[in-house]
Parts: sequence; structure tokens; C-alpha cells
Amino acid sequence: MVHNASAIAREPQPPSPGSGPIAQLRGIRKTFPKASGGDLLVLDDINLDLNDGEIVCLLGRSGSGKSTMLRIIAGLLSPTSGEVLFEGRPVHGPAAGIGMVFQTFALFPWLTVLKNVELGLEALGLPADESRQRALAAVDLIGLDGFESAYPKELSGGMRQRVGFARATAIHPRLLLMDEAFSALDVLTAENLRSEFLQLWGDGSLPIRSVLMVTHNIEEAVLMGDRIVVLGINPGRITDIIPISLARPRDRFDPVLREMVDSVYGQMTARPIPLTRQPIPATLPIAERLPRAPVNRMAGFLATLANSPFDGRADLPDIDDLFNATQGEVFPLLEALHRFGLARLEAGDITLTDLGRRFVDSDLEGRKTIFRGQLLMQVPLASHIRSVLDTRPEQRAPLVRFRVELEDHLSEQDAEMTLRTVIDWGRYAELFAYDDDAEVFSLENPE
Ligand code: ADP
Ligand code: MG
Repeated sequence: MVHNASAIAREPQPPSPGSGPIAQLRGIRKTFPKASGGDLLVLDDINLDLNDGEIVCLLGRSGSGKSTMLRIIAGLLSPTSGEVLFEGRPVHGPAAGIGMVFQTFALFPWLTVLKNVELGLEALGLPADESRQRALAAVDLIGLDGFESAYPKELSGGMRQRVGFARATAIHPRLLLMDEAFSALDVLTAENLRSEFLQLWGDGSLPIRSVLMVTHNIEEAVLMGDRIVVLGINPGRITDIIPISLARPRDRFDPVLREMVDSVYGQMTARPIPLTRQPIPATLPIAERLPRAPVNRMAGFLATLANSPFDGRADLPDIDDLFNATQGEVFPLLEALHRFGLARLEAGDITLTDLGRRFVDSDLEGRKTIFRGQLLMQVPLASHIRSVLDTRPEQRAPLVRFRVELEDHLSEQDAEMTLRTVIDWGRYAELFAYDDDAEVFSLENPE
């Protein structure tokens, strides 16, 4: 991004932490009506101040309500209860002064870059020449100089994302909300755009006073944030606020930063998961959300981990790089492997367990036996389905029977994902069969 800031920030001022909140979230609660009746509680009791001069990163698993929270702050969605104050005033409806950057942008293909940026200004009702001037300044600042008259199809993904940033900054927001703004970009482009953004933020070239950015990339959160807010799931509640007091600019290879990344990973994955061979206590919930982790991906992952260069142990961020994925994709896999006792997550490392080693070294039958044992012990829903089938004379049960049970506790989307996961796992383990057309579980193929 080029440093031609004069037209954007009238008085360039580096952000100064500590001068008070720009936005305040007070007791935010949000429910959505469920198709099956009742309400899905997505956000509960969210209290958070976004202070002048800080970047807050919102981390949480998919479905934890991060996008919902951003839309509420921007005034695009009303909370069920609670309120948002922006610069001291309650937000009702889209608030001027709040900009938003999304993962991908709806750019109009028939409009040039400059026109696409100007679009964001229309709602402000500015005179045409001021609109034009602001758009040009934003285009320069965001590094699109020379591309003003290009059309979206001529731009790479990274350049298109810059148009999104330019559109958001042209309105001179005091609060910038970013929803996974870097996650659709390849690693290098994302890094480049992030560091340019941080430079503009740091030298006061942007009129933005405060940033709230959603990410599921822990490294990105540690690289960018002054604080990391961790959102738990079902319902989305703030479970942790982690201050990141590293000096800027930050270097992703700085050992102190690596340690911080590991420790945040550790905090996010620290969850007591029984790994011992014990019967399932009756209190373990059947209706818990299962991670989207197909068996063949789990097996592929284990094989990678077992072999060189990892030889059974890896740093989690390296795993993300290796799979060229965001944590959003790898996380469910890690969660499942940990739960099955095939790998152990600890303080930002993943280690193959003895059982995991045996799994990798076994043939298909051996793998199925290990998997079946763990599935029965660690996944109450799987053993529940099996025992329902065992007790029915015809040894059949329709999918809907379990869907209804799950939807009492999970969103429709999570219930569906959980069912898909347990079907994949159960089929592989030959614990039960499932007929996709009839949507019926049975014991037809398993012994
Ligand atoms: P995240 O951004 O953390 O992945 P979202 O905020 O998109 O999560 O969604 C949180 C939950 O709210 C999900 O279970 C999703 O299905 C549900 N949800 C989001 N928007 C709506 C809506 N308009 N109607 C019903 N459910 C919704
Ligand atoms: Mg989202």
C-alpha cells in the first residue's frame, strides 16, 4: 500500500491505546428461530469494549457466532437483547463510521476499480468530486495505484481484496470490522496485505481508531492483535481474553511470538478428553457436536505425522503450512484425532500416541478394529445408534430419529454435520450401515 495518506487522514495520528472505548457491547444475546421450532441461541452475554487504538482479534470455531457478532456491531442485524454503543451512542441500523471487510467481495464486474470503490461512498451522499477524491486517495493508499480503470476480472485475488479494503477505508471509518478478510488469499499474499495494513495502521495513515477482526488463524491473531477474544461455541460466549503485548512490527519467526502462538493453541485445545479404556459414563452427552473429520483424512494426517520430517511430533502451525490450510480446516481433524487417542494435543504440539503408531502400522482390518474400539468408547452418539439398532427386532432405525434428538441441543447445521460425521465413522468402523437413499441405519453389513 502506497503511503499517500494526506487525502484520507486529515491529521495523521498513530493510534494511542488507552484513550477509551470506541464501541461497547453490552449483554449481547442473539437467537435465531429454528426450522424445527424453538430458538437457537447463538450469542450469549457478550460484553466487550473495543478501545481507541487497539486491534482485537476474535477467534472461534466455525459456527461460534463470529460473523453474527460483527453484523450486530455494524448494525446490520439487531441483537435479541443487549445493546451496542458506537462512540457512546446506541447502534440502530447501519452505522456511518463503521467499515467492513469480508472474506470475498462482491465486486461489480462491469465497473472499474475506481467505480467499485466509489460505490461504498454513495450512501454517504457526498458531492461527486469529494467522492471521487476520496476513492482515488483510498485506491492509492491501498496499493491499487495504476489499476483505477482496471476491471475486476483483470485482477488477482489479492488485488481484488485490496479493492475491498479501499472501499471500506474510503468511507473513513473509525471502527473497521474484518470478517476473515485474509483467509481466502494464498499465504504470501495474505502476509503481504496484513503487513501493509499494519504499517498503515501503525503510522496513523488510516482514519481507523479501532479494529475488530475475525479469524480462525491463531498465528494471524497473534501477529495482528493487541487482544485475542476467544469465542466458545453452543452458545457463543467469550471464554478467554488474551492480551498480546508484543512490540510491533512483529516477526512471525520471532521465538517469543512462536511461543505465544503455541500457548494460544494450547489454550484453545486444552480440554479434558478421556483417553483411557473406560466405559462411557451415562452422563456423557449424545447430542454433542462432532468435528467434520472424515476417516480418510484422519488416516492421511496420521501417516504424514508418523513419517519424516515429523517422526511423530509436529508444531501445530507447521501442520497448517504443510496442509496449506487454515486452522478452520485442520482443527476438526486434530480434535477428532485427540478424541480417538490417536494423537495428543499439548501446548501447541501434536504428538502421535502409541495407539496412533499402531494404527499407522496396521493393515485395514487392524485399523478398523482400533477405530471401532475408540468410536464405541469415545463417541456416545455412535454407541447410542448401535444400541438402538441392537434393541430393535428389525435392526433398523431412520436417520430422522437421531436428527430430532440432536436438534434439541444443536443447530440444524451442526446436527447435520454431526450426523454426517458419525455416519462416516460408523461405516468405516463397520459399527453400523447406512442407506443414503432411504436415510436408514441398519446392521445389514456389519457382523
Ligand atoms: P461463525 O462466523 O463463527 O462461523 P456464524 O455467526 O456465521 O458463525 O453462525 C453462528 C450460528 O448461527 C450458526 O449455527 C449458524 O447456522 C447460525 N445462523 C447464522 N445466521 C443465521 C440466520 N440468519 N438464521 C438462522 N441461523 C443463523
Ligand atoms: Mg463467519
